[in-house]
Amino acid sequence: MVEGRSLDEAAVALKRAHYAEETTGRFRKGGKVENCIFCRIVAGEVPSEILYQDDEVIAFRDINPQAPVHLLVVSRKHITSALQAEARDGKLLASVFEAVASLAEREDIASSGVRVVTNAGRAAGQEVPHLHFHVLGGRMMSWPPG
Ligand code: AMP
Repeated sequence: MVEGRSLDEAAVALKRAHYAEETTGRFRKGGKVENCIFCRIVAGEVPSEILYQDDEVIAFRDINPQAPVHLLVVSRKHITSALQAEARDGKLLASVFEAVASLAEREDIASSGVRVVTNAGRAAGQEVPHLHFHVLGGRMMSWPPG
């Protein structure tokens, strides 16, 4: 199927780009990426108030909140976006949603409703090329998003 094949080709191209990043020296020892703000927060090089952490993810408040509650759940491992996540990242992705549920309860937004968003790529508005999930709540939200 032509459509299926082109999707596969796109996925392979993205993974190649990620692999190229891994092998061209942008990756430092320990899997961190030079000049990646979220790698620096994960490494403790940039201070932040960590609200949740486990082996796979950390969470902190967004510096530019778009809702009364706006948190970021960030993978410890540098993955460029959701488009580069692989089957081997299953435990990490499970941790993301455990963090989301735990934080939503703690921030008292679970019962009213939570929006969980991950932007992947320029057109989607991704500013930080390190996998993260926005957790937004505390107000009514509209659809479709802008
Ligand atoms: P995105 O546009 O989906 O890549 O989202 C990146 C988010 O990271 C934005 O909402 C920024 O406000 C947020 N951000 C960038 N730097 C920091 C930081 N040092 N601490 C907390 N949030 C940040």
